[in-house]
Amino acid sequence: MVQKEKLLEIHHLHKDYGNGPVLKDISLDVHKGEVVVLIGPSGCGKSTFLRCMNGLEQIQSGEILLDGNVITDNKTKWSDVRQKIGMVFQSYELFPHMTVIDNILLGPLKVQKKDKKEAEKEAKELLGRVGLLDKKDAFPRQLSGGQKQRVAIVRALIMRPEILLFDEVTAALDPEMVREVLDVMLELAKAGSTMVIVTHEMQFARAVADRIVFLDGGEIVEMDAPEKFFTQPKTDRARRFLNTFTFKKKEG
Ligand code: ADP
Ligand code: MG
Repeated sequence: MVQKEKLLEIHHLHKDYGNGPVLKDISLDVHKGEVVVLIGPSGCGKSTFLRCMNGLEQIQSGEILLDGNVITDNKTKWSDVRQKIGMVFQSYELFPHMTVIDNILLGPLKVQKKDKKEAEKEAKELLGRVGLLDKKDAFPRQLSGGQKQRVAIVRALIMRPEILLFDEVTAALDPEMVREVLDVMLELAKAGSTMVIVTHEMQFARAVADRIVFLDGGEIVEMDAPEKFFTQPKTDRARRFLNTFTFKKKEG
């Protein structure tokens, strides 16, 4: 078997906001094309972990490498790194006074200085991929939450990141809109995107993940293939966490 290429490496990460440790000695490799799903109870450090990965939070010790290069030393230009590590948040934060396509084009035109025609073509392709080409000239207020979140995903994708981080992107959506956003992420996974996803949607986690990372109290407690993790969790902590979901096994 071919050894998969490491895209993102996290070594012995420690994070503290000043009131005691939030992430304690976290190490994790994310391979090219891999989908890692981070799960764990509220407050266990999932968002902090994602935010550390793209420099939105300072870390106290440890290091992070992207493509084999350290990105946590003081030479790091985070504005460059963030073009390679895209992030989608729970709140999509589109600019309300700009149309969908102008929101999407902001990064490629202002940050990456891409050619306008070329960027527009790409934006339309991506909007088509998430089923929103007909909304390109709409304003955010004219879209549903699910549609806005799909636009936010396109806004991240158009930067052509090497890896995408998703932080509970369906948590604020009405239930009927969750599916359409999860489907876009499943589609990205199928197309070979490298992703780290934080979610409370356990069925989705099981379906999309190559690996589940269970975080509790700022530590990685378990790391396993999804089928293994959901059917035979190794620790009481994981079992207790899974029991808080009315999780139906896909058996029989
Ligand atoms: P999760 O995403 O798993 O719910 P978070 O990463 O948001 O967890 O939070 C982990 C811990 O860090 C919590 O105890 C939270 O209160 C604390 N925390 C998060 N952000 C900050 C911050 N900006 N300042 C201080 N403490 C924070
Ligand atoms: Mg969070």
